[in-house]
Order: sequence, then structure tokens, then C-alpha cells
Amino acid sequence: MSFLFDKKIEHENLCEAAIREGRSAEAVFHAAKAGDFCLALAKQSDGTIAERYLQVGESWLDIAERLQTSPLPSVSSGSDKPASRTSQSPIATASLRGTPIDDSEFQIAEIPDVSFDDIAGMEVAKEAIFDMIVHPMREPEKARALKLKPGGGVLLYGPPGTGKTMFGKAIAHEIDAPFFYASGAQIRSKWHGESEQRLSRLIQSAREKPVAVLFLDEVDGLLPRRASGSSVVDNRIVTQFLADIGGFRDSENILLLLGATNKPWEIDEAVFRTGRFDEKIYIGPPDAGARRGLLEIHLAGVPLEDDFNFEKWAMRLEGYTGSDIVGLVHDAKRSALRRSVFGQSDPAVKQIDLEQALTTIPSSVTDKMLGQYERFQQQRFGA
Ligand code: ADP
Repeated sequence: MSFLFDKKIEHENLCEAAIREGRSAEAVFHAAKAGDFCLALAKQSDGTIAERYLQVGESWLDIAERLQTSPLPSVSSGSDKPASRTSQSPIATASLRGTPIDDSEFQIAEIPDVSFDDIAGMEVAKEAIFDMIVHPMREPEKARALKLKPGGGVLLYGPPGTGKTMFGKAIAHEIDAPFFYASGAQIRSKWHGESEQRLSRLIQSAREKPVAVLFLDEVDGLLPRRASGSSVVDNRIVTQFLADIGGFRDSENILLLLGATNKPWEIDEAVFRTGRFDEKIYIGPPDAGARRGLLEIHLAGVPLEDDFNFEKWAMRLEGYTGSDIVGLVHDAKRSALRRSVFGQSDPAVKQIDLEQALTTIPSSVTDKMLGQYERFQQQRFGA
């Protein structure tokens, strides 16, 4: 729960910062993420709290919609007063219905600036991506000789905060490709009631680029199981998606389709059956080596106490996700700063700061959750 709550706050803050600086595409991304996290919190809560999260979540999704249809004026053209969600703001006054969607808004960064070097662990996933797209693109003649076309579809599944989104961005960086992002909730927004067209347009936009990475977050929300009670809309979206994505192997452009989900068991069967995602890769909590890598990446260049023991901490943080570890390190740095300010000493992160952080930040992954993934793997792949 605290992980979801922290992520909600993080995206709300990032959205507000992006709004202030007139960065529409990022604001859309963070508003949609804030909305998604609120909806996830609503699912885990009851009664009035659940209702409240639902309302807040819907209003964030609403903001994402409004920002998409009515991008913010660039900061240089306006006053330096921050944009806000008042009746005067461009967000609140935007008309939602019937406005064409600017597909370029789905693209959050031309080429992201995170690389594989910023990602700890994930060796299996990195190797699969090298085989599928990086090697064929870097050595096109060798790939042609073997009749291998770069690109394809990969489903990344596993607990939240394990670095799936970051990995998608790093792939785009490695192959110098634009990164297109959309979350299930964003595409299925109730405001337009035309999710399948929005998804089609997103896929078309990515296909218009010679090379592109298309990241569909929360595929479970976009392509949910066609349970007996599922709506006609659900079925239409799945069908349309399968149609749109079906032809990309034969097309001229190179497209890497990445789907990400924390709940693979809720995805429509047809998505697996028809092989749109050739590879399904489990991204679990980091192993000891990756945990050490995470600590080293996030403490690089930071003053530490002399006998700071990375090995010990890598072992100690078993069960923590990448995102948890980033949060712990951040918390430890804050304690170090506080000590340095009040004690008028040089700042340095000590192991005691991490100990302290551990008392307030629990691991966001439980054995029960991991068990669910294991059962899914058994049932789906017999692994
Ligand atoms: P997911 O998409 O699986 O929910 P994210 O990619 O949003 O997870 O991860 C959240 C943050 O956690 C990242 O921005 C990054 O700072 C950190 N993180 C998670 N896993 C890793 C990793 N393996 N290496 C480096 N950073 C990581």
C-alpha cells in the first residue's frame, strides 16, 4: 500500500512540476500514472477511502485527457505563475469531447537518456533484447544473412517497481529510437469511449517512425480477460489490438512492442495465444548482485562512511525491489543531511541511515505476491 501511495505522490509532484514548466507530454504521462496509482489504491481500500481514491484517480485521468487535447502553453510565452487546476487553467477549461487527439503527445521523449548501464541486473531480459533488436540493428548484414528481422513483441511481467518501464526506456536509448508510452488506463479513458481508435492511432504513430519502441503499460487494464461479464468494448479493443499489431512483422519499419503488467493472469488469453508477444519475460525483485548494483548506482559519487559495506547491504535487502531500494537510499541521504546540518559536520551517508530508513520503508513485495507469479508461470508456461 505504501508503495502505491508513494508512487501516487511521486507522479503527482512530477506532473505538477511538468505543468509548471509547460512540458505537456510529461505532464500527461505523470497525470496518467498518478491516476493509475489512485485506482490501484482504491482497489486495495474499502468504503469511503476507496471512493475517495477513485474520485481522485478519475480526476487525474481527466487531467491527463485535458492536457492531451489541449497542450500547455510553453512557459516562455506566459507568466511564470504556475498552472493550476482552477477554472482558469488551460487544463480545466479544455473541452474534452470531439477534440482530435494529438498522437505526438503519446511520445514522452524523443530518445530517453537512461541506458542499460543505469539498470542493475535484468541479465536475462537484456540478453533477450540484444538478440531481438540490438544485434540485428547493429549488425544488419549478419541478421539479413540469417533472415532475422529486428523487432517483435515482449511482455514484461512482475511486481511493481522492478524497473520494467525504465528498462523500456533504456532499450529505446540503446537503439536510438523514440519511446512511445501509453498506459492501459490512459487509452481506455472513459471520456472518449473510443479506446480502440486511440490504440490504433498510437500503433500507427509508432509505425510511422523508421524505428520505434512502443511501451504499453498495464496491459492487463487494456486487454483484460474476456470474462463472461466483460463488456463489448473490452472485446472490441482486444480484437482491434490483435489486428493492428498483427502486421508489424511484415512492415518496413522496425517496431519493438513492449507490454508491461503486474497482473499477467488478468490479460486476455488471445494475447498470449496469437503470439503477439513472442517473448514473455519475468522481471522479479533484484538478486543480490543487482541489489548491490542498485546501491552502487544510486550512491555513486556520494560521500559514505569509511567502512560502508555494500556486500552486507546487498544481502540485507533481499526482497526489496529496485524502486524500494531507490526510496531507501533517498531516505538515508536525507537523514545524513539532517545530521550534517544539525551537527555542523561534513555530510556522509552511514549504514545507520539505511538502518533507520528500513524501519519506515517496508519491502513492497510479499511472498504471497511472488507465489502468484509462480502459479501463473506454472499454469501458462508449465515452468
Ligand atoms: P515498474 O515499471 O516495474 O513498475 P519502474 O521502471 O517504474 O518499475 O521503476 C521505478 C524506479 O525504480 C526506476 O525509475 C528506477 O529508479 C528504480 N529501479 C527499479 N528497478 C531498477 C533496476 N533494476 N535498476 C536500476 N533502477 C531500478
